[in-house]
This record gives sequence, C-alpha cells and structure tokens, in this order.
Amino acid sequence: MLFASAPTQQARWAACEKCQNKADLGFLICRACSCILASKISIEAAQCPLGKWPDKPEEALSQD
Ligand code: SF4
Repeated sequence: MLFASAPTQQARWAACEKCQNKADLGFLICRACSCILASKISIEAAQCPLGKWPDKPEEALSQD
C-alpha cells in the first residue's frame, strides 16, 4: 500500500503539530529530515526520524 490510511495520517499530523522540529516555510517541513510533511505523512512506508509517530494510530487519536 503506497498511501497511509486516513487515521494514520491524522495521528501523524497530530504528532507533527506538537513537534518542535516542524517548521513553516509557506509549507510545513520537518527540520530533522528536511522532508515536506504533507508528502511524508501520506506515504505509508515513511517514518518519523525521531520515532514520534504512534505505532497504533487509532489508539493515539482516542487519547487526544
Ligand atoms: S516527522 Fe517526527 S521529527 Fe519531524 S516534525 Fe514530525 S514528529 Fe517531528
């Protein structure tokens, strides 16, 4: 599967929103890996370089 599920993308966004490595250059990037977040978050196989994305997105979303 190329694209991550909607709950996975939502949980990843929630983690990135709280992260000090998120930077707004007119579009959001991750300063830890220099990736464009909108693209990175949507790709199933992508990973947070600091391990901040939840392993179980549905559980992470229910805790917010
Ligand atoms: S991918 Fe990870 S390190 Fe980068 S902004 Fe998101 S949570 Fe932070």
